[in-house]
Amino acid sequence: MTLETTQTELLVIGAGPAGYVAAIRAGQLDVDVTLVEKDAYGGTCLNHGCIPSKAIISATDIAHDAANAESMGIYADPDIEIPELVSWKDDVVSQLTRGVEKLCKANQVALLEGTATFEDGHTTRISDSGDEHLVEFEHAIVATGSRPLEIPNFSYADEPVLNSRQALALDALPDRLVIVGAGYIGMELATVFAKLGTDVTVVEALEGILPTYESDLVRPVKKRAMDLSIDFRFERTATAWHDHGDGEGIRVETKPAGRADVDADGDDATENDTDTLDADTVLVAVGRTPVSDTLALENAGVETDSRGFITTNSHARTNVDHIFAVGDVAGEPMLAHKGSKEGQVAAEVAAGESARLEYKAIPAAVFTDPEIGTVGLTAAEATDEGLEPLVGEFPLRASGRALTTGTTDGFVRIVADADTGAILGGHIVAPHASELIAELALAVELGATLEDVATTVHTHPTLSEAVMEATEKALGHAIHTLNR
Ligand code: FAD
Repeated sequence: MTLETTQTELLVIGAGPAGYVAAIRAGQLDVDVTLVEKDAYGGTCLNHGCIPSKAIISATDIAHDAANAESMGIYADPDIEIPELVSWKDDVVSQLTRGVEKLCKANQVALLEGTATFEDGHTTRISDSGDEHLVEFEHAIVATGSRPLEIPNFSYADEPVLNSRQALALDALPDRLVIVGAGYIGMELATVFAKLGTDVTVVEALEGILPTYESDLVRPVKKRAMDLSIDFRFERTATAWHDHGDGEGIRVETKPAGRADVDADGDDATENDTDTLDADTVLVAVGRTPVSDTLALENAGVETDSRGFITTNSHARTNVDHIFAVGDVAGEPMLAHKGSKEGQVAAEVAAGESARLEYKAIPAAVFTDPEIGTVGLTAAEATDEGLEPLVGEFPLRASGRALTTGTTDGFVRIVADADTGAILGGHIVAPHASELIAELALAVELGATLEDVATTVHTHPTLSEAVMEATEKALGHAIHTLNR
Protein backbone atom coordinates (compact mmCIF):
# COMPACT_ATOMS: atom_id res chain seq x y z
CA MET A 1 0.00 0.00 0.00
CA THR A 2 1.33 3.44 -0.88
CA LEU A 3 1.33 5.75 2.09
CA GLU A 4 0.10 9.32 1.83
CA THR A 5 3.12 11.63 1.53
CA THR A 6 3.36 15.33 2.35
CA GLN A 7 6.30 17.72 1.94
CA THR A 8 7.78 20.33 4.23
CA GLU A 9 10.86 22.52 4.04
CA LEU A 10 11.75 21.93 7.70
CA LEU A 11 10.54 19.08 9.90
CA VAL A 12 11.06 19.49 13.66
CA ILE A 13 10.74 16.27 15.67
CA GLY A 14 9.69 16.85 19.29
CA ALA A 15 7.85 19.85 20.77
CA GLY A 16 9.84 20.39 23.97
CA PRO A 17 11.58 23.71 24.69
CA ALA A 18 14.23 22.91 22.05
CA GLY A 19 11.83 21.79 19.30
CA TYR A 20 8.92 24.20 19.71
CA VAL A 21 11.29 27.18 19.94
CA ALA A 22 13.06 25.99 16.77
CA ALA A 23 9.69 25.68 15.00
CA ILE A 24 8.49 29.14 16.08
CA ARG A 25 11.82 30.73 15.06
CA ALA A 26 11.61 29.00 11.66
CA GLY A 27 8.03 30.27 11.26
CA GLN A 28 9.21 33.80 12.04
CA LEU A 29 11.76 33.43 9.24
CA ASP A 30 9.04 32.38 6.77
CA VAL A 31 10.28 28.79 6.54
CA ASP A 32 7.58 26.22 5.70
CA VAL A 33 7.86 24.29 8.99
CA THR A 34 6.12 21.22 10.42
CA LEU A 35 6.39 20.21 14.10
CA VAL A 36 5.64 16.61 15.04
CA GLU A 37 4.99 15.60 18.67
CA LYS A 38 4.00 12.19 19.98
CA ASP A 39 2.87 13.24 23.43
CA ALA A 40 2.26 16.79 24.71
CA TYR A 41 3.34 20.26 23.55
CA GLY A 42 6.06 21.63 25.80
CA GLY A 43 7.85 18.28 26.22
CA THR A 44 9.41 17.14 29.48
CA CYS A 45 10.06 20.66 30.71
CA LEU A 46 6.50 21.97 30.65
CA ASN A 47 4.70 18.70 31.37
CA HIS A 48 6.92 16.64 33.66
CA GLY A 49 9.98 18.69 34.62
CA CYS A 50 10.82 22.37 35.11
CA ILE A 51 7.30 23.76 35.37
CA PRO A 52 5.48 21.18 37.52
CA SER A 53 8.47 20.85 39.84
CA LYS A 54 8.77 24.62 40.31
CA ALA A 55 5.00 24.96 40.82
CA ILE A 56 5.15 22.38 43.60
CA ILE A 57 8.28 23.96 45.10
CA SER A 58 6.56 27.39 45.22
CA ALA A 59 3.40 26.02 46.82
CA THR A 60 5.37 23.97 49.34
CA ASP A 61 7.49 26.98 50.27
CA ILE A 62 4.40 29.09 50.98
CA ALA A 63 3.10 26.49 53.43
CA HIS A 64 6.48 25.71 54.96
CA ASP A 65 7.50 29.35 55.39
CA ALA A 66 4.16 30.18 57.01
CA ALA A 67 4.51 27.25 59.40
CA ASN A 68 8.03 28.30 60.37
CA ALA A 69 7.74 32.05 60.91
CA GLU A 70 7.33 32.19 64.69
CA SER A 71 10.42 34.40 64.95
CA MET A 72 8.52 36.96 62.85
CA GLY A 73 5.48 36.68 65.13
CA ILE A 74 3.53 34.52 62.71
CA TYR A 75 1.88 31.35 64.01
CA ALA A 76 0.28 29.19 61.31
CA ASP A 77 -0.38 25.54 60.72
CA PRO A 78 -1.35 25.25 57.04
CA ASP A 79 -3.47 22.31 55.93
CA ILE A 80 -2.11 21.00 52.64
CA GLU A 81 -4.66 19.29 50.41
CA ILE A 82 -2.43 17.34 48.02
CA PRO A 83 -5.12 16.65 45.36
CA GLU A 84 -5.91 20.40 45.21
CA LEU A 85 -2.23 21.31 45.03
CA VAL A 86 -1.75 18.79 42.21
CA SER A 87 -4.78 20.10 40.32
CA TRP A 88 -3.47 23.70 40.61
CA LYS A 89 -0.08 22.50 39.31
CA ASP A 90 -1.82 20.67 36.42
CA ASP A 91 -3.71 23.87 35.58
CA VAL A 92 -0.43 25.85 35.42
CA VAL A 93 0.97 23.19 33.08
CA SER A 94 -2.05 23.14 30.80
CA GLN A 95 -2.14 26.95 30.52
CA LEU A 96 1.45 26.81 29.29
CA THR A 97 1.06 23.87 26.92
CA ARG A 98 -2.04 25.48 25.37
CA GLY A 99 0.02 28.67 25.01
CA VAL A 100 2.76 26.78 23.14
CA GLU A 101 0.21 25.30 20.73
CA LYS A 102 -1.31 28.75 20.09
CA LEU A 103 2.09 30.37 19.57
CA CYS A 104 3.06 27.68 17.07
CA LYS A 105 -0.15 28.18 15.10
CA ALA A 106 0.24 31.97 15.21
CA ASN A 107 3.68 31.54 13.66
CA GLN A 108 2.36 29.36 10.82
CA VAL A 109 3.88 26.16 12.24
CA ALA A 110 2.00 23.10 10.90
CA LEU A 111 1.34 20.74 13.83
CA LEU A 112 1.33 16.97 13.46
CA GLU A 113 0.53 14.42 16.15
CA GLY A 114 2.44 11.16 16.07
CA THR A 115 5.78 9.43 16.43
CA ALA A 116 8.42 10.14 13.79
CA THR A 117 11.01 7.64 12.58
CA PHE A 118 13.47 8.11 9.74
CA GLU A 119 12.90 6.13 6.52
CA ASP A 120 15.89 7.74 4.81
CA GLY A 121 17.81 11.02 4.78
CA HIS A 122 14.85 13.03 3.49
CA THR A 123 11.77 11.08 4.69
CA THR A 124 10.15 10.27 8.01
CA ARG A 125 7.28 7.94 8.78
CA ILE A 126 4.72 9.39 11.19
CA SER A 127 2.72 6.83 13.19
CA ASP A 128 -0.31 7.90 15.18
CA SER A 129 -2.60 5.28 16.76
CA GLY A 130 -2.28 2.88 13.84
CA ASP A 131 -2.40 5.57 11.13
CA GLU A 132 0.79 6.00 9.14
CA HIS A 133 1.97 8.54 6.58
CA LEU A 134 5.22 9.93 5.27
CA VAL A 135 6.68 13.42 5.49
CA GLU A 136 9.45 14.42 3.10
CA PHE A 137 11.70 17.24 4.25
CA GLU A 138 14.57 19.37 3.01
CA HIS A 139 15.91 19.96 6.54
CA ALA A 140 15.10 18.25 9.83
CA ILE A 141 15.75 19.23 13.45
CA VAL A 142 15.80 16.34 15.93
CA ALA A 143 14.62 17.55 19.36
CA THR A 144 13.45 14.33 20.98
CA GLY A 145 14.82 15.07 24.46
CA SER A 146 15.74 12.55 27.13
CA ARG A 147 14.16 10.01 29.45
CA PRO A 148 15.00 8.97 33.04
CA LEU A 149 17.73 6.35 33.43
CA GLU A 150 16.75 3.13 35.13
CA ILE A 151 19.02 1.19 37.49
CA PRO A 152 19.10 -2.60 37.90
CA ASN A 153 16.24 -4.03 40.00
CA PHE A 154 14.31 -0.73 40.10
CA SER A 155 11.76 -0.80 37.28
CA TYR A 156 9.46 2.22 36.90
CA ALA A 157 6.71 -0.27 36.02
CA ASP A 158 6.69 -1.42 39.67
CA GLU A 159 4.34 0.64 41.80
CA PRO A 160 6.61 1.68 44.68
CA VAL A 161 9.39 2.70 42.27
CA LEU A 162 8.98 6.18 40.78
CA ASN A 163 10.86 8.37 38.35
CA SER A 164 10.64 12.18 38.64
CA ARG A 165 7.66 12.33 36.26
CA GLN A 166 5.69 9.87 38.38
CA ALA A 167 6.75 11.61 41.62
CA LEU A 168 5.39 14.93 40.31
CA ALA A 169 2.02 13.31 39.59
CA LEU A 170 1.44 11.67 43.01
CA ASP A 171 -1.92 12.50 44.56
CA ALA A 172 -0.97 11.32 48.05
CA LEU A 173 2.22 11.83 50.02
CA PRO A 174 4.47 8.89 50.84
CA ASP A 175 5.20 8.55 54.58
CA ARG A 176 8.75 7.27 54.04
CA LEU A 177 10.55 8.01 50.80
CA VAL A 178 13.96 6.81 49.68
CA ILE A 179 15.46 8.95 46.91
CA VAL A 180 18.29 7.41 44.90
CA GLY A 181 20.55 10.17 43.56
CA ALA A 182 21.54 13.54 45.04
CA GLY A 183 21.79 15.44 41.76
CA TYR A 184 19.60 18.49 41.18
CA ILE A 185 16.38 16.57 40.50
CA GLY A 186 16.87 14.33 43.55
CA MET A 187 17.72 17.28 45.81
CA GLU A 188 14.88 19.51 44.61
CA LEU A 189 12.36 16.72 45.19
CA ALA A 190 13.95 15.68 48.51
CA THR A 191 13.46 19.27 49.73
CA VAL A 192 9.83 19.37 48.58
CA PHE A 193 8.85 16.05 50.13
CA ALA A 194 10.67 16.82 53.39
CA LYS A 195 8.86 20.17 53.65
CA LEU A 196 5.55 18.40 53.05
CA GLY A 197 6.26 16.12 56.00
CA THR A 198 7.55 12.97 54.31
CA ASP A 199 10.41 11.15 56.02
CA VAL A 200 13.14 11.36 53.31
CA THR A 201 16.41 9.41 52.97
CA VAL A 202 18.74 10.16 50.05
CA VAL A 203 21.11 7.43 48.85
CA GLU A 204 24.06 8.74 46.81
CA ALA A 205 26.99 6.79 45.34
CA LEU A 206 29.35 9.76 45.59
CA GLU A 207 30.51 11.44 48.80
CA GLY A 208 28.27 14.50 48.64
CA ILE A 209 25.23 16.18 47.10
CA LEU A 210 25.13 18.04 43.77
CA PRO A 211 28.51 16.69 42.68
CA THR A 212 28.89 18.99 39.66
CA TYR A 213 28.97 22.09 41.88
CA GLU A 214 31.79 23.45 44.08
CA SER A 215 31.66 22.04 47.59
CA ASP A 216 31.34 25.39 49.43
CA LEU A 217 28.46 26.38 47.15
CA VAL A 218 26.64 23.21 48.07
CA ARG A 219 27.32 23.41 51.82
CA PRO A 220 24.36 25.69 52.77
CA VAL A 221 22.02 23.44 50.77
CA LYS A 222 23.19 20.33 52.58
CA LYS A 223 22.99 22.05 55.95
CA ARG A 224 19.42 23.17 55.24
CA ALA A 225 18.48 19.70 54.00
CA MET A 226 19.77 18.21 57.25
CA ASP A 227 17.79 20.85 59.22
CA LEU A 228 14.75 19.56 57.32
CA SER A 229 15.64 16.09 58.70
CA ILE A 230 16.67 14.66 55.32
CA ASP A 231 18.86 11.67 56.04
CA PHE A 232 21.83 11.02 53.73
CA ARG A 233 23.56 7.73 52.90
CA PHE A 234 26.65 8.71 50.91
CA GLU A 235 28.96 6.39 48.99
CA ARG A 236 26.22 3.79 48.83
CA THR A 237 24.28 2.30 45.94
CA ALA A 238 20.68 1.12 46.05
CA THR A 239 20.81 -2.48 44.86
CA ALA A 240 17.34 -3.96 45.39
CA TRP A 241 13.96 -3.52 47.03
CA HIS A 242 11.65 -6.03 48.65
CA ASP A 243 8.01 -5.84 49.60
CA HIS A 244 7.29 -6.47 53.31
CA GLY A 245 3.85 -7.72 52.24
CA ASP A 246 0.46 -6.94 53.81
CA GLY A 247 0.78 -3.24 52.95
CA GLU A 248 3.66 -2.88 55.41
CA GLY A 249 5.83 -1.04 52.91
CA ILE A 250 9.15 -1.96 51.33
CA ARG A 251 12.78 -2.47 52.30
CA VAL A 252 15.42 -0.82 50.12
CA GLU A 253 18.83 -2.48 50.17
CA THR A 254 22.00 -0.42 49.75
CA LYS A 255 25.61 -1.51 49.44
CA PRO A 256 28.88 0.44 49.42
CA ALA A 257 29.22 2.22 46.09
CA GLY A 258 31.23 0.26 43.56
CA ARG A 259 30.74 -2.95 45.53
CA ALA A 260 27.25 -4.01 44.54
CA ASP A 261 28.19 -7.70 44.21
CA VAL A 262 31.81 -8.04 45.18
CA ASP A 263 34.08 -5.86 47.25
CA ALA A 264 37.39 -4.34 46.18
CA ASP A 265 39.34 -7.53 47.05
CA GLY A 266 37.07 -9.58 44.85
CA ASP A 267 35.33 -11.22 47.81
CA ASP A 268 31.56 -11.51 47.88
CA ALA A 269 29.98 -8.52 49.53
CA THR A 270 29.20 -9.59 53.08
CA GLU A 271 25.93 -9.30 54.92
CA ASN A 272 27.57 -6.49 56.90
CA ASP A 273 27.93 -4.42 53.74
CA THR A 274 24.18 -4.36 53.27
CA ASP A 275 22.13 -1.62 54.82
CA THR A 276 18.35 -1.65 54.61
CA LEU A 277 16.00 1.31 54.64
CA ASP A 278 12.31 0.97 55.41
CA ALA A 279 10.13 2.99 53.06
CA ASP A 280 6.87 2.91 51.19
CA THR A 281 8.13 4.54 48.00
CA VAL A 282 11.47 4.86 46.23
CA LEU A 283 12.23 7.63 43.77
CA VAL A 284 15.10 7.01 41.36
CA ALA A 285 16.76 10.21 40.11
CA VAL A 286 20.13 9.06 38.81
CA GLY A 287 20.20 10.98 35.55
CA ARG A 288 18.69 11.02 32.10
CA THR A 289 19.55 9.40 28.80
CA PRO A 290 18.97 10.82 25.30
CA VAL A 291 15.98 9.66 23.25
CA SER A 292 17.97 8.77 20.13
CA ASP A 293 17.38 5.01 20.02
CA THR A 294 13.76 5.06 18.81
CA LEU A 295 14.19 7.21 15.70
CA ALA A 296 15.87 4.78 13.28
CA LEU A 297 18.62 7.40 12.93
CA GLU A 298 20.73 4.85 11.03
CA ASN A 299 18.29 5.11 8.08
CA ALA A 300 19.29 8.76 7.76
CA GLY A 301 22.98 8.09 8.52
CA VAL A 302 22.94 10.30 11.66
CA GLU A 303 25.64 9.40 14.20
CA THR A 304 25.55 9.33 18.00
CA ASP A 305 28.36 9.17 20.57
CA SER A 306 28.93 6.28 22.99
CA ARG A 307 26.27 7.65 25.40
CA GLY A 308 23.64 8.00 22.66
CA PHE A 309 23.86 11.79 22.27
CA ILE A 310 23.62 12.97 18.66
CA THR A 311 26.91 14.67 17.80
CA THR A 312 26.63 18.19 16.41
CA ASN A 313 28.91 21.04 15.33
CA SER A 314 28.79 24.71 16.35
CA HIS A 315 25.84 25.27 13.98
CA ALA A 316 23.84 22.40 15.58
CA ARG A 317 24.33 20.34 12.41
CA THR A 318 24.76 16.57 12.76
CA ASN A 319 27.21 14.66 10.56
CA VAL A 320 24.41 14.78 7.93
CA ASP A 321 24.52 18.40 6.79
CA HIS A 322 20.79 19.07 6.43
CA ILE A 323 19.80 17.34 9.71
CA PHE A 324 20.24 19.23 13.01
CA ALA A 325 19.96 18.07 16.63
CA VAL A 326 19.12 20.31 19.59
CA GLY A 327 18.28 20.08 23.29
CA ASP A 328 18.84 17.11 25.59
CA VAL A 329 19.31 14.68 22.70
CA ALA A 330 22.31 16.76 21.54
CA GLY A 331 24.20 16.60 24.84
CA GLU A 332 24.95 18.26 28.15
CA PRO A 333 24.00 20.42 29.88
CA MET A 334 20.50 18.97 29.74
CA LEU A 335 18.71 22.23 30.49
CA ALA A 336 15.65 23.76 28.86
CA HIS A 337 17.19 27.17 28.09
CA LYS A 338 20.26 25.57 26.51
CA GLY A 339 17.94 23.54 24.26
CA SER A 340 15.88 26.61 23.33
CA LYS A 341 18.99 28.54 22.33
CA GLU A 342 20.18 25.60 20.22
CA GLY A 343 16.71 25.39 18.65
CA GLN A 344 16.87 29.05 17.62
CA VAL A 345 20.35 28.64 16.15
CA ALA A 346 19.38 25.49 14.21
CA ALA A 347 16.26 27.19 12.79
CA GLU A 348 18.28 30.23 11.72
CA VAL A 349 21.00 28.10 10.10
CA ALA A 350 18.35 25.99 8.31
CA ALA A 351 16.83 29.26 7.05
CA GLY A 352 20.20 30.23 5.58
CA GLU A 353 21.38 32.61 8.30
CA SER A 354 24.89 32.51 9.81
CA ALA A 355 24.03 31.78 13.46
CA ARG A 356 26.32 29.71 15.68
CA LEU A 357 26.25 28.22 19.17
CA GLU A 358 28.07 29.92 22.03
CA TYR A 359 28.21 28.08 25.36
CA LYS A 360 30.29 30.38 27.59
CA ALA A 361 27.28 32.05 29.23
CA ILE A 362 24.76 29.25 29.83
CA PRO A 363 23.49 29.62 33.38
CA ALA A 364 22.30 26.73 35.55
CA ALA A 365 20.03 26.83 38.57
CA VAL A 366 19.16 24.38 41.31
CA PHE A 367 15.85 25.16 43.00
CA THR A 368 16.77 23.82 46.41
CA ASP A 369 16.60 25.79 49.67
CA PRO A 370 18.61 28.00 49.30
CA GLU A 371 18.87 28.04 45.52
CA ILE A 372 22.09 27.75 43.56
CA GLY A 373 22.80 29.73 40.40
CA THR A 374 25.97 29.48 38.36
CA VAL A 375 27.32 30.71 35.06
CA GLY A 376 30.69 30.58 33.32
CA LEU A 377 33.98 29.52 34.85
CA THR A 378 34.95 28.63 38.41
CA ALA A 379 38.33 29.92 39.64
CA ALA A 380 39.82 26.45 39.11
CA GLU A 381 38.49 26.29 35.54
CA ALA A 382 39.88 29.76 34.82
CA THR A 383 43.31 28.61 36.06
CA ASP A 384 43.05 25.48 33.88
CA GLU A 385 42.43 27.76 30.92
CA GLY A 386 45.70 29.60 31.67
CA LEU A 387 44.01 32.68 33.14
CA GLU A 388 44.75 34.30 36.48
CA PRO A 389 41.44 34.41 38.36
CA LEU A 390 40.53 37.35 40.57
CA VAL A 391 37.76 36.35 42.98
CA GLY A 392 35.33 38.57 44.89
CA GLU A 393 32.89 37.15 47.40
CA PHE A 394 30.07 38.71 49.39
CA PRO A 395 28.35 36.85 52.25
CA LEU A 396 24.58 37.11 52.51
CA ARG A 397 24.77 37.79 56.23
CA ALA A 398 26.08 41.27 55.28
CA SER A 399 23.03 41.96 53.08
CA GLY A 400 20.23 43.98 54.65
CA ARG A 401 17.69 42.46 52.28
CA ALA A 402 18.78 38.93 53.12
CA LEU A 403 18.20 39.70 56.81
CA THR A 404 14.68 40.93 56.07
CA THR A 405 13.86 37.62 54.36
CA GLY A 406 15.12 35.61 57.31
CA THR A 407 17.75 33.76 55.22
CA THR A 408 21.39 34.73 55.53
CA ASP A 409 23.17 31.49 54.74
CA GLY A 410 24.81 31.89 51.34
CA PHE A 411 27.08 34.07 49.24
CA VAL A 412 27.78 35.55 45.83
CA ARG A 413 31.13 34.79 44.21
CA ILE A 414 32.44 36.49 41.10
CA VAL A 415 35.38 35.17 39.11
CA ALA A 416 37.14 37.69 36.87
CA ASP A 417 40.27 37.79 34.75
CA ALA A 418 42.91 39.54 36.88
CA ASP A 419 44.51 41.02 33.74
CA THR A 420 41.49 42.62 32.15
CA GLY A 421 38.82 42.62 34.88
CA ALA A 422 36.46 40.76 32.51
CA ILE A 423 33.88 38.72 34.42
CA LEU A 424 34.39 35.02 33.65
CA GLY A 425 31.87 33.44 35.97
CA GLY A 426 29.40 33.84 38.82
CA HIS A 427 28.44 31.39 41.57
CA ILE A 428 25.60 32.13 43.93
CA VAL A 429 23.97 30.24 46.76
CA ALA A 430 21.10 32.34 48.07
CA PRO A 431 17.32 32.72 47.99
CA HIS A 432 16.38 33.59 44.38
CA ALA A 433 19.85 32.67 43.08
CA SER A 434 18.05 31.41 39.96
CA GLU A 435 16.99 35.02 39.25
CA LEU A 436 20.17 36.73 40.50
CA ILE A 437 22.38 34.72 38.17
CA ALA A 438 20.81 36.44 35.13
CA GLU A 439 22.83 39.61 35.77
CA LEU A 440 26.07 37.64 35.73
CA ALA A 441 25.02 35.67 32.65
CA LEU A 442 24.60 39.02 30.90
CA ALA A 443 27.99 40.17 32.23
CA VAL A 444 29.73 37.04 30.93
CA GLU A 445 27.90 37.23 27.60
CA LEU A 446 28.80 40.89 27.08
CA GLY A 447 32.36 40.54 28.36
CA ALA A 448 31.51 43.10 31.08
CA THR A 449 34.19 43.95 33.63
CA LEU A 450 34.09 44.09 37.44
CA GLU A 451 34.08 47.87 37.07
CA ASP A 452 30.98 47.73 34.83
CA VAL A 453 28.93 45.87 37.45
CA ALA A 454 30.40 47.78 40.42
CA THR A 455 29.51 51.15 38.90
CA THR A 456 25.97 50.07 38.02
CA VAL A 457 23.61 51.40 40.70
CA HIS A 458 21.64 48.50 42.18
CA THR A 459 18.25 48.94 43.84
CA HIS A 460 18.25 49.04 47.64
CA PRO A 461 17.34 46.95 49.51
CA THR A 462 17.67 43.95 47.19
CA LEU A 463 19.67 40.75 47.07
CA SER A 464 21.11 41.99 43.77
CA GLU A 465 23.24 44.43 45.78
CA ALA A 466 25.21 41.36 46.89
CA VAL A 467 26.24 40.87 43.24
CA MET A 468 27.48 44.46 43.07
CA GLU A 469 29.27 44.14 46.41
CA ALA A 470 31.05 40.96 45.28
CA THR A 471 32.47 42.87 42.30
CA GLU A 472 33.48 45.71 44.63
CA LYS A 473 35.15 43.18 46.90
CA ALA A 474 37.20 41.86 43.96
CA LEU A 475 38.21 45.46 43.21
CA GLY A 476 39.19 45.95 46.87
CA HIS A 477 36.55 48.53 47.83
CA ALA A 478 33.48 46.67 49.13
CA ILE A 479 31.45 48.84 51.50
CA HIS A 480 29.55 46.31 53.60
CA THR A 481 32.27 43.73 54.16
CA LEU A 482 35.93 44.04 55.07
CA ASN A 483 38.39 44.19 52.17
CA ARG A 484 40.88 41.75 53.64
P1 FAD B 1 12.00 17.37 25.88
O1 FAD B 1 11.47 18.47 26.71
O2 FAD B 1 12.21 16.06 26.53
O3 FAD B 1 11.01 17.23 24.66
C1 FAD B 1 11.18 16.23 23.70
C2 FAD B 1 9.84 15.97 23.06
O4 FAD B 1 10.03 15.10 21.95
C3 FAD B 1 8.86 15.26 23.98
O5 FAD B 1 7.66 15.99 24.05
C4 FAD B 1 8.64 13.89 23.33
O6 FAD B 1 7.32 13.40 23.49
C5 FAD B 1 8.94 14.20 21.87
N1 FAD B 1 9.38 13.04 21.09
C6 FAD B 1 10.34 12.14 21.43
N2 FAD B 1 10.51 11.25 20.43
C7 FAD B 1 9.64 11.58 19.45
C8 FAD B 1 9.34 11.04 18.17
N3 FAD B 1 10.00 9.98 17.69
N4 FAD B 1 8.37 11.62 17.43
C9 FAD B 1 7.69 12.70 17.91
N5 FAD B 1 7.93 13.26 19.11
C10 FAD B 1 8.91 12.71 19.86
N6 FAD B 1 15.68 22.24 33.00
C11 FAD B 1 15.87 23.54 33.30
O7 FAD B 1 16.46 24.27 32.49
N7 FAD B 1 15.40 24.08 34.48
C12 FAD B 1 14.75 23.32 35.39
O8 FAD B 1 14.34 23.82 36.44
C13 FAD B 1 14.54 21.95 35.10
N8 FAD B 1 13.88 21.16 35.98
C14 FAD B 1 13.66 19.85 35.64
C15 FAD B 1 12.98 19.07 36.57
C16 FAD B 1 12.73 17.74 36.28
C17 FAD B 1 11.98 16.89 37.28
C18 FAD B 1 13.17 17.19 35.02
C19 FAD B 1 12.91 15.76 34.68
C20 FAD B 1 13.86 17.97 34.12
C21 FAD B 1 14.11 19.31 34.43
N9 FAD B 1 14.81 20.12 33.55
C22 FAD B 1 15.02 21.44 33.87
C23 FAD B 1 15.37 19.62 32.28
C24 FAD B 1 14.46 19.99 31.11
O9 FAD B 1 13.19 19.44 31.32
C25 FAD B 1 15.06 19.46 29.81
O10 FAD B 1 16.38 19.93 29.67
C26 FAD B 1 14.24 19.94 28.62
O11 FAD B 1 12.90 19.50 28.71
C27 FAD B 1 14.87 19.43 27.32
O12 FAD B 1 14.12 19.93 26.26
P2 FAD B 1 14.07 19.14 24.87
O13 FAD B 1 13.17 19.96 24.00
O14 FAD B 1 15.43 18.82 24.42
O15 FAD B 1 13.38 17.74 25.20
